Amino acid sequence: LGGHGQEVFQPAVALTIAGSDSGGGAGIQADLKTFAASKVFGTSVLTLVTAQNTQGVTAVEMLPDAVIRAQFEAVMSDLNPTAAKTGALGNDRVIGLVAEMLDDRPIEKLVVDPVMVSKHGDPLMPEQAVKAFIALMVPRAMIITPNRFEARALIGRDVDDVRDMQEAAKRIFDMGAPAVLIKGGHLDHIVRDILYDGTGFTEFGADRIRSPRVHGSGCTFSAAITAKLAEGATIEAALEYARDFITKAILMAPEIGEGIAPVNPMH
Ligand code: PLP
Repeated sequence: LGGHGQEVFQPAVALTIAGSDSGGGAGIQADLKTFAASKVFGTSVLTLVTAQNTQGVTAVEMLPDAVIRAQFEAVMSDLNPTAAKTGALGNDRVIGLVAEMLDDRPIEKLVVDPVMVSKHGDPLMPEQAVKAFIALMVPRAMIITPNRFEARALIGRDVDDVRDMQEAAKRIFDMGAPAVLIKGGHLDHIVRDILYDGTGFTEFGADRIRSPRVHGSGCTFSAAITAKLAEGATIEAALEYARDFITKAILMAPEIGEGIAPVNPMH
């Protein structure tokens, strides 16, 4: 016990480097809710700000390099996050900047979520930034978590079935990510995620939950992995936690807004 009978609480600290979703469903907001629900102390570096609600994105503004770097320095020099994730980075300038920041202050447990388009189809990373992303972010990941559309953008060919997912995982592994988790949530009927770590494939299957309320599901999933890694879990244990977490978050999604409602990390 500390002073005043308070219990000393020393949570693991996690960091998200991502964009803001004013609608509260994805991006930094989803990440911080997921960290909080996972009882991990969440810190953040905002890369861009979106104006959006459940119906779509109406504005995107990149933050200046100096502000992005200053947030990172402030967090890293004082709060010692033990794991981090990257979400929306926005363009090749910010991809280069974030890579530089991570060279200066490496974070070993880095979850890279290759956010490229929102669930409404709004682009969050221009096509010409994909090259920089492959060169600079993929090799810095401890684990990378593309859905099949993001996998297609990374490897330049369609990812339509489980064999394509396996092939994509191998190719992304060859780009320098030691663990590749391809999310199969966008395939029909069943959800099959595939993990490749250079030695073999692990498949995780589940029944598909037919829900339209999935905004923020990618962010929430990668943040849940990050939270567990921050606590010292293995990748396998972190993935098991995140799969259970995202299933509950989808089942408990709130009915709000006129468009694609978000998942609920605070289930
Ligand atoms: N990051 C930001 C700032 C976003 O606005 C979005 C989607 O709109 C995403 C990430 C990706 O969200 P999802 O988890 O639904 O893929």
